[in-house]
Amino acid sequence: MVVQVKKRKKAMVLREDCVACGACLKVCPVNATVIYRGIFAVIDSARCIGCSRCATICPASAINMKELE
Ligand code: SF4
Ligand code: SF4
Repeated sequence: MVVQVKKRKKAMVLREDCVACGACLKVCPVNATVIYRGIFAVIDSARCIGCSRCATICPASAINMKELE
C-alpha cells in the first residue's frame, strides 16, 4: 500500500464536533490518533504525516487539515 506523505500538512480535530467513533484511528497509517477518555479524538502532530485519510473518513467532518507555515 502506498502512503502519500505530505509533511507540510497536519490533521487537527475540532473537539466539539468529534463523536468519538474511532474511524480515524482505523485509517491512520502511523497510529497518530487516540480517543481521549472516550470523549474526542486527539492527534499527535509529531507523528502525523498529513495523509488526510482521517479527514476523509470522519463522519462528523471533525478533522481539518492545517497547512504549516
Ligand atoms: S492525516 Fe494521516 S497521518 Fe495524520 S492523523 Fe490523519 S490519518 Fe494519521
Ligand atoms: S473519525 Fe471524526 S468523529 Fe470519529 S473519532 Fe475521529 S475525529 Fe472523531
